[in-house]
Amino acid sequence: MKKVNLDELLCCPECGGLLLESKERLKCEACDKAYAVVNGIPRFVETELYVENFGFQWNKHKRTQFDNEKKTPSESFLRTIGLSPEVVKDKLVLDAGCGSGRYSDVINRWGGKVIAMDLSSAVEACYENLGNRGVMVVQGDILKPPLKKESFDVVFSIGVLHHTPNTKQAFKSILTLLKPGGHIVIWLYHSYNDDCLRMKLSKFYRKVTWRLPKRFLYAVSHLAIPYYYLNKIPFLRSITGRIWHIAEHEDWRWRVLDTFDWYSPRYQWHHTYTEVWKWFEEEGLVNIRISEPPVSISAVKPSNKI
Ligand SMILES: [Zn+2]
Repeated sequence: MKKVNLDELLCCPECGGLLLESKERLKCEACDKAYAVVNGIPRFVETELYVENFGFQWNKHKRTQFDNEKKTPSESFLRTIGLSPEVVKDKLVLDAGCGSGRYSDVINRWGGKVIAMDLSSAVEACYENLGNRGVMVVQGDILKPPLKKESFDVVFSIGVLHHTPNTKQAFKSILTLLKPGGHIVIWLYHSYNDDCLRMKLSKFYRKVTWRLPKRFLYAVSHLAIPYYYLNKIPFLRSITGRIWHIAEHEDWRWRVLDTFDWYSPRYQWHHTYTEVWKWFEEEGLVNIRISEPPVSISAVKPSNKI
């Protein structure tokens, strides 16, 4: 596969200016701001801001969710929401909020040219996983992307935008990076269960849990390991299933990871199809399609009129 020339895609996140490479730095031609390149990854943020939890979890679980010879959950999920080799092959694809790279891995296998971006130190894990396969990894903020406008054929973001301070703003921001005629797909947490006791309590617990020391919360998340077996007892399930949200994946590592992933983020917004569909319409997107699981929506940016 032809290597992506990252220099042609990057720009200054502050002013949109051209970046010039000098030693281990990228310097903005227009505003003079400099950005470091550390361990092969251009860094456009000085801190992880509000996503230290994600840096923590993805460096602990670098490959927990990766497809393997036996199971391909990431590939299946991408197909469900409308991505396939036909859509991404030889295309320039942005994975907005890549984590340790489980979806970039699939896109790369399908022949897409991937730029994987994350705000957190998950980029270290992603680079370790995919850096030697031609996937370009960038540490940057979705709300202030260091990427040139209208440069990607496909932009996707799975389970990420709802963890920013403003989901709609984040959606609008990644949309600016899509070429006219390009394809966008997002998946967000839904709010259809928000009225049930379990979710009401979850909201309440989360007011505290995201503030807890990460190591402590991570240790507590290990309760998901035995809980899985206890929860097979119908009587217990009828009670515990209503009072907390604990991951029940068959792989114990996933259970710990997903439980931590639920309770640790600073922001966790929930949405409906109707709400998100409106955002797509407001932006003038066409071929808007919904898919399972909620809330997953894809669309095409109309081509420029001549
Ligand atoms: Zn600049």
